[in-house]
Amino acid sequence: MAFDQVLHQKAFINGASVDSSDGAQFAVINPATGETITQISDCTARDAEKAIASAKAALKPWAAKTAKERCEIMRRWFDIVIEHEQELAELLSTEQGKPLAEALGEIRYGAAYIEWFAEEARRTYGDLIPSAKGDARILVMKQPVGVVAAITPWNFPNAMIARKAAPALAAGCPIVIKPAEDTPLSALALAQMAKLAGVPEGVINIVTTSKAQEVGQVLTTHQDVAKVSFTGSTEVGRIIMRNGAETIKKLSLELGGNAPFIVFDDADLDRAVDGALMSKYRNSGQTCVCANRIYVQAGIYDAFVEKFSAKAAELKVGGAFESDVALGPLINTEAVAKVEELVADAIEKGASATIGGSKSDKGDLFYNPTILRDVSRNARVLREEIFGPVAPVIKFKDEADAITLANDSEFGLAGYFFSKDLGRVWRVAEALECGIVGVNEGVTSAVEAPFGGVKQSGLGREGSHYGLDDYLELKYVLMGGL
Ligand code: ADP
Repeated sequence: MAFDQVLHQKAFINGASVDSSDGAQFAVINPATGETITQISDCTARDAEKAIASAKAALKPWAAKTAKERCEIMRRWFDIVIEHEQELAELLSTEQGKPLAEALGEIRYGAAYIEWFAEEARRTYGDLIPSAKGDARILVMKQPVGVVAAITPWNFPNAMIARKAAPALAAGCPIVIKPAEDTPLSALALAQMAKLAGVPEGVINIVTTSKAQEVGQVLTTHQDVAKVSFTGSTEVGRIIMRNGAETIKKLSLELGGNAPFIVFDDADLDRAVDGALMSKYRNSGQTCVCANRIYVQAGIYDAFVEKFSAKAAELKVGGAFESDVALGPLINTEAVAKVEELVADAIEKGASATIGGSKSDKGDLFYNPTILRDVSRNARVLREEIFGPVAPVIKFKDEADAITLANDSEFGLAGYFFSKDLGRVWRVAEALECGIVGVNEGVTSAVEAPFGGVKQSGLGREGSHYGLDDYLELKYVLMGGL
């Protein structure tokens, strides 16, 4: 396959491809077939320390470059990624399972962060504030936070790396990245392309490992790491927050979600159904912003369930390289087991499956698109992140009921609702306890917009002009005796 050109087997530390310090390797598996794609360096705590040391050494010279110089290097990086988008998409599909067209979309989406932050680097404006003293002025400058450690998940093996590395580099911060053990290959490919673009040694490091806890411990406690940027589960997010306490690390945390998706009686039904399909089944339901609970007002409940079921039943399940495929495999056997458990619990509590409700005959990790109706309000599927192609649809009475149900969660990442009533649109958009709200839209992610959650869904924002601030410190300088 063409992805051979972008396949790398060794960790990337201080600008070089390296074996782990003990020579160990681990296998990266294709989830669609169960076959080993390749063996790669299985880094240890010692390797993580080396990567941090090389990032530390790179900090001063990288931060000292002008924003324009950093911008030009990053722009070249973006160009190289786009030049190789096809190979990168094939590699991504092979290690993660998502359909090729979706993988290509992810490569472009990830690249857009590199382009965006290359541009934003040049707009790291400070401030001049009038002082109460006539002979003084207050100056505010922005400076890089220092060495950044990033820990990323497997559901977006390319975009999650780009979304952290791009603002870090733009701000002048070197980064040490630990990609998820399931999907380290896309990260290695991106780093090699950064090197080709002229990113100096030590500025990007990729510590591939199957020992998440051992390596994660070093990255999140080391005194030379100023900031940790993490995307993953709330459970691991808590560990990372605790680990960072000793050295008061700055944190960006993109954690779990439990997105409500509300359809009011006055919604455009077809638009709501299309939105639900996109929001629920993208990446086989394995995104933290996927619709997790679909609330539909009583007046259109049956019509919605019928149309949604008819359309979802047409989604083709299969390998990433089959034509017209919409749903790939889940990432591993634990993910399938969790989905099976949640569906069984919902059915036991009175729900029925209008479509799906079982594994697909495509292979061990494939699960059919599923819609559950008449789901009891105490079903686990409404409390826990499903991370699979299962859509529980629940009936609600009125606007107040919908808002109460939607906000009844410790999570607050994304929320969606469909309505044509302008007053309701404002009321509900303001009332939802979420960092991201899609109004009459099922997919909201965009490089220009701030991505992030409230409540236990996390801290900080990625993307947009706000995204650079997570990697910058404010320095207040009082200029006196003028
Ligand atoms: P997911 O449910 O998406 O797999 P996780 O939170 O388990 O989410 O994993 C996200 C990332 O966190 C992965 O890179 C994983 O290796 C890493 N990770 C898991 N446990 C730890 C830990 N104890 N310390 C640091 N990183 C960890």
